[in-house]
Amino acid sequence: MARLRGTGEALTLAGSFEEMAVWIAAARAAGVARVLAAPGPAGLTGEQVAALKAAGIDGLRVRLYAAEAAAHDWHAGREGSFRAATATLRAARAVRVPVTVTTPLTRSNTRVLAAVPGLVADVGALGWQVSVVAEVRRQGHGAVAPRLAVAVPYALQALVAAERAGLLAAIAGAPLCLLGPLRDRAVPSPTLAFAASCGECGLRASCPGVDGEYLRRFDAGELTPARSGEGSAAGGSRAKRLRDMFSGPWLGLSEASCWPI
Ligand code: SF4
Repeated sequence: MARLRGTGEALTLAGSFEEMAVWIAAARAAGVARVLAAPGPAGLTGEQVAALKAAGIDGLRVRLYAAEAAAHDWHAGREGSFRAATATLRAARAVRVPVTVTTPLTRSNTRVLAAVPGLVADVGALGWQVSVVAEVRRQGHGAVAPRLAVAVPYALQALVAAERAGLLAAIAGAPLCLLGPLRDRAVPSPTLAFAASCGECGLRASCPGVDGEYLRRFDAGELTPARSGEGSAAGGSRAKRLRDMFSGPWLGLSEASCWPI
């Protein structure tokens, strides 16, 4: 059974692999400009990646929580998921399907994030995106969202390492005031909640804010409102390339199996 998810700019259809191949052809026939596949925790076989390419896919969006099996599999809720994800990435490289990688930033992978860019570059991905997770609770594991002031600096260090490795690197879902000079690596993400102190911030119009539950738990002490007129979130060619790569209109196709985080 197909399921639809939409975030304004992106529309995702979730279903079986066989349905994905049908939807790609239908989307192409309807003139959809960009069709991407987002494998679930079980990944895709080499044959499936080749079949998606033959059906006209523009690329894959692969999720990788860490550069080693224990941390990735824990987040994915499936033993063997890391092996499946890396096999998917290598299969995509073998048949020349463009790939980007997304790493959700959690309290559990913050300190192992630095190892991810090397793996992402090694498998020939075009770009890497760190996405700050909202305050979700996973059964048996409690809260998974990181303290922003602790985790975001690790993410920024990892972005710099990714760029040194030749990747385009972006961050989504982080308050702009925590990004410092790397603010132009932010890509658009759904708007969340804002503290009262955000009202006068010069970055308010382009900032995603903070998860509402996070604000209730930790208040707004980590946020630093920018002066009015201090600048917008992003400009220049790099920011445009990141926006083109990680946001904008596209149709996403994913397997029915869901990621728990
Ligand atoms: S102070 Fe608020 S609006 Fe300004 S950048 Fe930080 S979170 Fe965004």
